[in-house]
Amino acid sequence: MIEVKNVTKKYGKLLANDDLSFTVHPGEISILVGPNGAGKSTIIKSIAGLLRFQGEILICGKKNKSMDAKRNLGYIPEIPALYDMLTIWEHMEFIARAYSLENWKERADSLFERFELSDKKNKLGSELSKGMQQKVSICCGLLPNPKVILFDEPLVGLDPHAIKELKNILVEYKTDGAAILLSTHMLDSVSEFWDSTNIMMGGKFAARRTRKEVLGSGEDLEKLFFDITEGTKDNTLQSASTTDRKIVGKEKP
Ligand code: ADP
Repeated sequence: MIEVKNVTKKYGKLLANDDLSFTVHPGEISILVGPNGAGKSTIIKSIAGLLRFQGEILICGKKNKSMDAKRNLGYIPEIPALYDMLTIWEHMEFIARAYSLENWKERADSLFERFELSDKKNKLGSELSKGMQQKVSICCGLLPNPKVILFDEPLVGLDPHAIKELKNILVEYKTDGAAILLSTHMLDSVSEFWDSTNIMMGGKFAARRTRKEVLGSGEDLEKLFFDITEGTKDNTLQSASTTDRKIVGKEKP
């Protein structure tokens, strides 16, 4: 479970996340959508423990920067950061040692197979295309079998097979009870598997919907997204759920 409580992050004077609070429960895939600069990566990096922020973030009940929290956390960054001089198999070995994993080789092999990397085991990080690096980064993030997974724009740069495989994996993890937070600026690419969607603008949530709410109301989420991000919908969402009325607008919840 991810619990974000009143998180505010500033870069100098720029307010990138403005008093965000939300929870991602076990077995839930939660989506962060919004235009470039909305604050999606910032909240993901804060949850991953990479940034200093005001407020509190708990991972499976533990403070996000604690070892207990990190043991349960998988983070797949927007830009893969591989070690140029390690082979991709050595990347898996490195993660296995860092997390003190046992019997990890079979799992690493299976992940490589799913992402069509088995024949590239001995390639160096620097020898791979951007898409292949992204696939290695995903394998590294998933090797410890995390209970909480953060994906920052994971579909960008992947080939169609890898996209299909990643979507299958997301659903498998969700079924296994993982809490998954995924950012994207392409709402249609994740439409089939999200449980909750948060539309971000200017460091805040402009609207939040659960799949149940959207199915119940028949609302067109894509239209809502464009209404909000292109400014045709102001701070008073008439069709909004109670969640929106609390979150949208200048007033604090
Ligand atoms: P998104 O992921 O939604 O595109 P980000 O979280 O990356 O948005 O950025 C939110 C805002 O914070 C943007 O205005 C961006 O320019 C700014 N920002 C992001 N990272 C930094 C940084 N390291 N230093 C200064 N400003 C930053």
